[in-house]
Amino acid sequence: METTLRGVGVSHGVAIGEVRHMGTAVLEPPAKQIPAEEAEREQARARRAVEAVAADLMARGNLAGGEAQAVLEAQAMMAQDPELIADVERRIAVGSTAERAVYDAFASYRALLAGAGEYLAGRVADLDDVRNRIVARLLGVPMPGVPDSDEPYILIARDLAPADTALLDPTLVLGFVTEEGGPTSHSAILARALGVPAIVALPGAGELGEGTEIAIDGSSGEVFVDPSAEKRAALEADAAARKAAPSASSGPGATSDGHTVPLLANIGGPGDVAAAVEAGAEGVGLFRTEFLFLDDSARAPSEEKQTAAYRQVLEAFPQGRVVVRVLDAGADKPLEFLTPADEPNPALGVRGLRSLLDHPDVLRTQLTALARAAEGLPVHLEVMAPMVADRADAKAFADACREAGLHAKFGAMVEIPSAALRARSVLQEVEFLSLGTNDLAQYTFAADRQVGAVSRLQDPWQPALLDLVAMAAEAGRAEGKSCGVCGEAASDPLLACVLTGLGVTSLSMGAASIPYVRTTLAKYTLAQCERAAAAARATESADEARAAAQAVLSGE
Ligand code: PEP
Ligand code: MG
Repeated sequence: METTLRGVGVSHGVAIGEVRHMGTAVLEPPAKQIPAEEAEREQARARRAVEAVAADLMARGNLAGGEAQAVLEAQAMMAQDPELIADVERRIAVGSTAERAVYDAFASYRALLAGAGEYLAGRVADLDDVRNRIVARLLGVPMPGVPDSDEPYILIARDLAPADTALLDPTLVLGFVTEEGGPTSHSAILARALGVPAIVALPGAGELGEGTEIAIDGSSGEVFVDPSAEKRAALEADAAARKAAPSASSGPGATSDGHTVPLLANIGGPGDVAAAVEAGAEGVGLFRTEFLFLDDSARAPSEEKQTAAYRQVLEAFPQGRVVVRVLDAGADKPLEFLTPADEPNPALGVRGLRSLLDHPDVLRTQLTALARAAEGLPVHLEVMAPMVADRADAKAFADACREAGLHAKFGAMVEIPSAALRARSVLQEVEFLSLGTNDLAQYTFAADRQVGAVSRLQDPWQPALLDLVAMAAEAGRAEGKSCGVCGEAASDPLLACVLTGLGVTSLSMGAASIPYVRTTLAKYTLAQCERAAAAARATESADEARAAAQAVLSGE
């Protein structure tokens, strides 16, 4: 029978498909004792699991080919290492369960590897993956990490970290549902980038049975479990109608009276460029470079690897603007080699620019790679720092850019309320501002982006957030410098009109949103946008602000 659950819709569209759960990262089986007569059976169970995992890894290797095949085959060999298996059997013989024996045997092997020089230490993550696969098989729970599926599915997770999402095969993911997360969590951002529907902050999501058929509506936040044929047909028809609307739109972003507002794309790497170009992006307003760092969180990618990736992006927008954000590690995007492991409150700790200033070599390599990538290209390269708190931060970043010989515009993201409050002073050091409304909301309302329970406070329509946007935009105007928005706020077509009315000079968003924003902006004059902005700021809540702007723009 059909049942309906409701979360917060964060990426529009409808998807119908089977549930696949994201496996939990680390499975620690309980340390319980088994009677001696069960040891032999338990040892056989362990051997079968090891063999099945090794065979699965080999099969995946065959399918993948190339470098991936070598890695997967090496993992299969790790699983079958005779010393490891002997250790597992010894542990079972003295009373361990198969899963606990595997867990403990891998732990001692891991300690050996970790202390055995840089190359072997780098294999620790592969070993952990093998262990997790064997333990998951023995426990009969989903494999850790992204689902092993060849068929398209709807992904269910507690929340998705950038490191998880980097491993997803976008052609298989029909949509997301997460228990945690708000409208600006990475699950939401990724879903919009992929153009798939997503729902966050749905408390019961983890209990949906693996393989259950569900339909999700990313606008209303509804999840229909075992949808009826009529419901499926109605949702499909609705989705098709919504999708058809903006496809005709093209050209630069502008209000109906010709006030231009460049519409730029948020990307995570060269792989996102094609969609951006297809959506008619006028450039890139936010290149989140941390995605290049996620393959191996133990070290930074080489200067050559970075140069090649940046060049691919720069070449795609020959005359356009490309705004690259230097590495924003920490908090929800931790990197082993940069992020302190023991911070009591990582979102308020050493993240973003703070960690780069603590590791000047990492910043220097990135800036040098950018300088090399831009050599000889006519592109307008702009480079900005995340998490700038004050003028001193902005100066430190601009100095580092100059020292690296970078010919680009240097900018600061406004993600911390102090930077919005003192935007004119920040602009004494840099040439542009870019409002990261996701973090700006998080820090303004003291509401963690990853916590579903406070997602109400992540709503970018909050008048207090609009006030801070207005302050930064006004500072830009006063200093004759640009102030764009690259947070998720820019992807809401109605809010994009309000932001324009507040004076922001460009809007950057996931490529899939660009046609919708372009079409909506083109319906109104700048003066209408300004009136909508003033009406929204005059209210007391996000809902009221949305309604007030809507009323002005629809001429009520
Ligand atoms: C933001 O905070 O608004 C932003 C654009 O950066 P990220 O979402 O990557 O933190
Ligand atoms: Mg941010």
